[in-house]
Amino acid sequence: MKLSSQQQEVRRLLKERRAILLAHNYQPGEIQDIADFLGDSLALSMTAAETAAEVIVFCGVHFMAETAAILCPEKTVLLPRLDLGCCLAESVTTAKLLARKAELPGVPVVTYVNSTAAVKAESDVCCTSANAIRVVNSLAAPRVLMVPDQNLARYAARHTAKEIEILTWEGWCNVHDGLSPEEVLECKAAHPQALFLAHPECNPEVLDLADEIRSTSGMLKYVLESPEKEFIIGTEKGIIHRLRQENPGKLFYSPSKRLICRPMKRITLTDVIKALQENRHQITVPEEIRVRALKAVERMLAVPRD
Ligand code: SF4
Repeated sequence: MKLSSQQQEVRRLLKERRAILLAHNYQPGEIQDIADFLGDSLALSMTAAETAAEVIVFCGVHFMAETAAILCPEKTVLLPRLDLGCCLAESVTTAKLLARKAELPGVPVVTYVNSTAAVKAESDVCCTSANAIRVVNSLAAPRVLMVPDQNLARYAARHTAKEIEILTWEGWCNVHDGLSPEEVLECKAAHPQALFLAHPECNPEVLDLADEIRSTSGMLKYVLESPEKEFIIGTEKGIIHRLRQENPGKLFYSPSKRLICRPMKRITLTDVIKALQENRHQITVPEEIRVRALKAVERMLAVPRD
């Protein structure tokens, strides 16, 4: 692939600074194409922790860079811009969570990794969209509070094998929750051969229409292994760039024009160049918060795989 002059400059600076570039699956294609690693937020943070590089340029939203800073405090984690919020992560604050916990003494809190470090620090265990059911199944309590994504909590409640009450939080991702069943049905009618893959952050009515419910990493794996040729992708559109590259000959359709995460798309190559040239914007987590947040992440990682 021929790189643009800005892409070449990013690669040159990465080499000069002995840095690596991590890009989320929802990033613009021009950034995905020059990333050292592509993936979902937790996989990228774990990659950051394992790499020998001392500088990590994290192309994703703010909470993702924070997760990398939780896992590898000795490294420099750079976020190319600061205006990269996530409506889901912002739907829960420490103060609100502490107030809810006070109303629910003894009820464990399961927190989706799409949350701030401060909220993770007040949680018992984290989960991802790929392991939410496994994490819930691992808990002995009869009731748990799942924050912040109510759609993920409902999905886990529906699919857990346990007798467990899952209390939800009033939070959702505007991008995934905004996908309507009508849009999916219209896309299915236009592409009757296509399988519909939906992300657990979609609303329950959309999940009811799915052939498969998968996290982003689960979708990538599923499509690679599937003999099917056409797929409707019920998650943020950016992932289709990678799906097309990894699966030439297969066809991908997005069911809605609105499946775009604006903050994810704000990072430009100019921002990445400036981040490397000026060491900006370094993301750190206060040690007292980091240690407690790390415990919640480590408890999740200790949950046995099926
Ligand atoms: S797609 Fe949704 S959950 Fe993911 S970063 Fe964007 S707003 Fe947050």
